[in-house]
Amino acid sequence: MSRTKEKLGNFTQLDAPKYEDVLQCMRCGFCLPTCPTFALTGRERSSPRGRVALARAVAEQKLEFTDAVKQEAFFCLDCRACTTACPSGVRAGEVMEICRSQSHQQVPLGHVGNSFRKFILQRMLPDPELMERSMLPARLYQRLGIQWLVRHSKALKLGPAWMEKAEGMLPELKAPLRPQLPVITEAVGEKRGRIGFFLGCVMTLMYPDVSRQTVRVLAYQGFDVVTPRATKCCGAPHLSEGDRQTARELALFNLDLFLQADVDYIVTDCAGCGAALKEYEELLDGETEHERLASFRAKVRDVSEFLTEVGLRTGGLKPVQKSVTYHEPCHLCHAQSISRQPRDLIQQIPGVELREMEEASWCCGSAATWGLKFSEESRQVLDRKLDNVRKTEAEILVTANPGCQLQLAWGVRERDLPVQVLHIMELLGEATP
Ligand code: SF4
Ligand code: SF4
Repeated sequence: MSRTKEKLGNFTQLDAPKYEDVLQCMRCGFCLPTCPTFALTGRERSSPRGRVALARAVAEQKLEFTDAVKQEAFFCLDCRACTTACPSGVRAGEVMEICRSQSHQQVPLGHVGNSFRKFILQRMLPDPELMERSMLPARLYQRLGIQWLVRHSKALKLGPAWMEKAEGMLPELKAPLRPQLPVITEAVGEKRGRIGFFLGCVMTLMYPDVSRQTVRVLAYQGFDVVTPRATKCCGAPHLSEGDRQTARELALFNLDLFLQADVDYIVTDCAGCGAALKEYEELLDGETEHERLASFRAKVRDVSEFLTEVGLRTGGLKPVQKSVTYHEPCHLCHAQSISRQPRDLIQQIPGVELREMEEASWCCGSAATWGLKFSEESRQVLDRKLDNVRKTEAEILVTANPGCQLQLAWGVRERDLPVQVLHIMELLGEATP
């Protein structure tokens, strides 16, 4: 969805939805059963159809861009389940994402909130070293036993709900992966190509062992893996929080970096990063030459999409005698239409039994910061997911996005379910010699 150059009704000129995008809705309601916030509330305005109608009313100057519109824009999970369901090609989640950008222009935060937001989005996230340093206190908090004391004293019950949840979601933190990964990891055996690995921020900081496995698996599969140290955040958090300008700056930086790296493919193991990278073409429309955008877009793959496309070398894989169920990240199945490929990979691992869960593509309730801002609603969405996980009686719950992994692992711990939560590359890593 590119930047409109025209002012549209009561939207400001910068980053308004396109009128044709909100006009397409024919009010059929096919999207309603797919929307988690409609399921939670039963409110029309919290449904895709209702949200598009709100945006259309603002576009047609029947409604000011009020605080109520802002609230609906942020209450949308941006899970994009409605996009998959819509026969008219309406993208309600993306329209709401653009409305978040409008909300910062039209209903700004107070001074403190705005300064905090700017520090996180414009100072910290674009600076990988600063992000790494900022995690040091959290690692010390775990290492020095303070976490144990805090959890056992129940002190977090005195603070806001989001703080207790954020603390509870922390995995065991290790040293960030970015400075440790070699810039080039050489292919094993007969070489099949050269990959640029896009290492996401959450992966390097929260799940370094997952991306370490991804690089090892890709090398075992016969690819030289180039991991540029200078890679910056993909811009997904900025799009989610309505800072499209910083997202564009980050996108231009990463675009230059990976085009210069002269790689055959650009691969990521984070569904959220993959969706953002694939949307650079729209985000940067008019900001750089179209050929460069098209060349970048043609190379981007999610890791399961990539391995299925080139064909998994299964010779030498070790058996993993486990039952596995698969949760589809929204930004993989709805934003990138990748559903079959992760299942194909799982089924190619010798010994693994794949047990399908009901509603595998229903959101887990994480959705970037949504799960913290709306912690009670997030818990309800997660409960629905975990009920379906429990029914499979699988030993391992596999997913492909760090946000889902954090949320699911937290939910499993809270409910004391006998299931291990893994990224698909951890499972494949276990099978890889
Ligand atoms: S958003 Fe799509 S599916 Fe939903 S009511 Fe409109 S046209 Fe129908
Ligand atoms: S993106 Fe998800 S939460 Fe938002 S309107 Fe669509 S289905 Fe509902």
